[in-house]
Amino acid sequence: MMKCSLFSLSDVMPFLLAGAALAAGLPSSAQAPASSAAPSAVQSSASLSAQTPRQARPTPQETEFYQPVPPVVTPAATMGMPPSDAIVLFDGKDLGQWVSAKDGTTPADWDVHDGVVTVRKGGVGNIQTKQKFKDYQLHVEWSVPVGIEGTGQARGNSGIFLASTGPGDDGYELQVLDSYNNETYTNGMLGSLYKQSVPLVNAARKPGEWSSYDIVWVAPRFNDDGTLKTPAYATAFENGVLVEDHFELKGQTLYIGQPFYKAYDMAPIKLQAHPDKSKPISFRNIWVREVKHWDTAPHN
Ligand code: MG
Repeated sequence: MMKCSLFSLSDVMPFLLAGAALAAGLPSSAQAPASSAAPSAVQSSASLSAQTPRQARPTPQETEFYQPVPPVVTPAATMGMPPSDAIVLFDGKDLGQWVSAKDGTTPADWDVHDGVVTVRKGGVGNIQTKQKFKDYQLHVEWSVPVGIEGTGQARGNSGIFLASTGPGDDGYELQVLDSYNNETYTNGMLGSLYKQSVPLVNAARKPGEWSSYDIVWVAPRFNDDGTLKTPAYATAFENGVLVEDHFELKGQTLYIGQPFYKAYDMAPIKLQAHPDKSKPISFRNIWVREVKHWDTAPHN
């Protein structure tokens, strides 16, 4: 915060102007004979000041706003749990907020038990939210089972599609993988936006422990003719550690080929049932908050 100094700029400005006049060779006490009644610097400054209209001083109030007023959100009593305005997508009880990604209508058939949901492999496939979203904040927790086997991409592979734009793996995937002592291509490891970004760090926990993602998703915008208006951006914290910092996506995340954008408006969030042979991972405590900006540009 700016503190008041002994003299403000406007207070000393007349003296600075007088100094400038001296430098320019105008009459001054230093140049005038000692016996003459030359004007002092103070007199010169007073004269100059009188000729210069005094500008209104800025006030603190000019840069203080009282509208809009942010709505009150009550934070969760326990860190990581949903705040008062969150949409709870999974609270450990059922998958009522989810459907099969194959058709978007069949009830999600993953295994809910002990307050968690475990991916069901063997053809059941991905599941996605009934509700569609645009920009949001998302919290997800997952655990890779103890005794996980396999290597590379075939070890605890799942994923969170930040926007599901079709069946299967269509969309924008933030990778979930066992990256605790498990090498793979780095733009496909835990924390990557699959095959587009290399996470800033590897903050993986050991199998058997619970991990969290806190994600900020800014959806892409499209023109009326379907061309891209503004790209998608993703920010992600893995176990509280920043791994994606407002990363600009080049399009949907693809296993093969170059990413491209396909126009959509709102989209479900999707969880991946990867067909690798390793034991399935589990999820818990999933919630989302829709993000709406006061200044709609460029997010409208
Ligand atoms: Mg995956």
